[in-house]
Amino acid sequence: MYIIMLGAPGTGKGTIGNEICEKYNLTHLATGDIFRDEIKRETPLGKKANEYISKGELVPDEVTIAMVEGKLNEMKDVLLDGFPRTIAQAEALKEYLNKNNKNITAVINLNVPDEDIIKRTSSRVICSNKECGASYNTIFMPPKVEGICDKCGSPLIKRKDDNPETIKERLNVYYKNTQPLIDYYEKEGLLESIDINIYLENTKEVTTEKAIKIIDGRLN
Ligand code: AMP
Repeated sequence: MYIIMLGAPGTGKGTIGNEICEKYNLTHLATGDIFRDEIKRETPLGKKANEYISKGELVPDEVTIAMVEGKLNEMKDVLLDGFPRTIAQAEALKEYLNKNNKNITAVINLNVPDEDIIKRTSSRVICSNKECGASYNTIFMPPKVEGICDKCGSPLIKRKDDNPETIKERLNVYYKNTQPLIDYYEKEGLLESIDINIYLENTKEVTTEKAIKIIDGRLN
C-alpha cells in the first residue's frame, strides 16, 4: 500500500502521517527527516541538501528522486511524507511504481490557511531522536513536559527552517512547485482533500479519523 501526504509545510503531514502509519503498519518515509539526518551526519548528500534547505528552497529533483528510489527499494507498504513535491518527482514515482507493479492507494491533501500555517510553524518543535520523529507545538499541541518528547523522552528542538522568513519562502516554493500536484492527482482520480481547523482542541484526532475513513473507503 502506498499513501501520499500532500500539503503545504506545517499542515500536519508528519503528525497525521505517523497516525496513519501506526494504524496500517506502514513505513513512514519523510524526505525532510532524511535530509535533516544527512545534514546532522555531515554526509555529502547532507552538505548538498543543506545548501537548499537552509534557504527554504527545494533540493534538486535528480538528487531527491535517486534518494527516494533507493529507500523505496527496501520498503513494502509506505507512507510518503514530503514527496513528491514537483511534477517531475510525481512522474518519476509513477514510473517507478509501474515498473514494480505497485499502486497509490490515496493522496491525502491537507488544507490549512496560510496565516494559520505561519502561526503553527513558528511554534513547532520536533523530537531530536530521528527514530522517533514526533512533532509538537508549544501553543497548539504541547508535550506533557516542556522540552521533552512524550513518546521517547528525548529533548525537543526547533527546526532551523521554521523561522518566519524561511517559512514564507517555503510557502512560495509550495505554491509554485507543489500545488500543481493537486490537479495532477485529481486527474489521476487519487486526490482526497481534508480542510483543517487548527483551533479545534482535537484537530489531530479529527483529521486522523477523516484520513482513516478515506483510506478504508479506498481499500474496500
Ligand atoms: P519538510 O520536513 O518536508 O518540510 O522538508 C524540509 C525541507 O527539505 C524542504 O523545505 C526542502 O528544502 C527539502 N525537501 C524535503 N522533501 C523534498 C522533496 N521531495 N523535494 C525537494 N526538496 C525536499
